[in-house]
Amino acid sequence: MNIHEYQAKELFDRFEVPSPRGQMAETAEDALKIAQEINSDLMVVKAQVHAGGRGKGTFKNGFEGGVHLTKSAEDIGALAGKMIGQTLVTKQTGEEGKLVRKVMVADAVDIKHEYYLAVLMDRETSRPVIVASTEGGMDIEEVAESSPEKILRVFIHPLAGLQAHQVRKLIVGLGLKGPAAKAFGKVLKNLYRLFTSLDCDMVEINPLVETPDGEVLALDAKFGFDDNALYRHPEVEAYRDIEEEDPREVAAAEFDLSYIGLDGNIACLVNGAGLAMATMDAIKFSGGDPANFLDVGGGATEAQVKGAFNIIQSDPKVEAILINIFGGIMDCNVIAQGVVAAVKETGLKLPLVVRLEGNNVAAGRETLTASGLAITGADDLADAAKKAVAAV
Ligand code: GDP
Ligand code: MG
Repeated sequence: MNIHEYQAKELFDRFEVPSPRGQMAETAEDALKIAQEINSDLMVVKAQVHAGGRGKGTFKNGFEGGVHLTKSAEDIGALAGKMIGQTLVTKQTGEEGKLVRKVMVADAVDIKHEYYLAVLMDRETSRPVIVASTEGGMDIEEVAESSPEKILRVFIHPLAGLQAHQVRKLIVGLGLKGPAAKAFGKVLKNLYRLFTSLDCDMVEINPLVETPDGEVLALDAKFGFDDNALYRHPEVEAYRDIEEEDPREVAAAEFDLSYIGLDGNIACLVNGAGLAMATMDAIKFSGGDPANFLDVGGGATEAQVKGAFNIIQSDPKVEAILINIFGGIMDCNVIAQGVVAAVKETGLKLPLVVRLEGNNVAAGRETLTASGLAITGADDLADAAKKAVAAV
């Protein structure tokens, strides 16, 4: 799960990671009021969407930039009015962009230097890793590509936690001195405490800034939380903003399905995560692109299968459907009945390739045949993938 920058700020406050004073607004009038309260020489108004790259983004109506600095509260109100209700396209939103419903108004800070700082879960070492760079404020992927030596990495032993020598290594590596070095050390310790306490899988601050007075502040924030640990943090779960999430995934969560939306055009409905991965590989191998990962699980009900099929069919990107079931615990006939029930309601609008094997397969095939649906049968996984790719 991801959260907005203004919500991240609340977590920063709780863990004593300094960030500029600011507040969220849903209307231009509120943005103006907040700016009048902040009443400082320079203020910033920022579009709140679950995507980075806002500063360099462009709205679909041509208005440039999702981050603006200005001196007057009136300007903040006017700028907020130009952003709220408009769709912002950034490097991270995809070309469809994201509708801006909220902005954050904050006190703008004087920047001496912009750094990059993140704590991530590193899957290779199974440890949290701190990633830091002097090249903050810009696209970190670009820095990693063009000057990889400018990216520092420190791996943390999960039991030992962040060690003083690791903090020093980063301070020296970033060239921080005096009060800024001390302030950075404190930010780092608090950020790591936040990361582990809240079961994050990513916290990224870009930029983390040093001010001319040696203060260190988080000017931006991107959080990712481990969904499987969210039950331990109801206050974090309360930050969920469903409007920012993939509607296909929101619908899938309602049916308790393991679903991840992808960009391709061949939808898959599979039982078992491993088989679902293999099915996506097979589609790729045959020259196609999967539209999703979907594992209906071992004990799926007819209602879940029906729900899954409806999600797939309502996805405008989907041009063909591949059902691949190897029934172990899963009863093939439950899958068949779910599909038939879904099609009865909404009709079958797309080519459907089905490969059924295993538990109660004869009854499953019979259910599908009796339904009179136009189904392309397949003998095995490779055959199914080929037929699905041929159908689009
Ligand atoms: P992003 O484009 O989505 O990553 O949004 P950021 O919050 O990182 O803002 C983009 C850029 O705007 C930053 O890298 C800064 O250069 C600039 N910016 C944001 N807030 C402030 C501020 O308070 N003061 C100054 N001087 N610049 C800011
Ligand atoms: Mg940023």
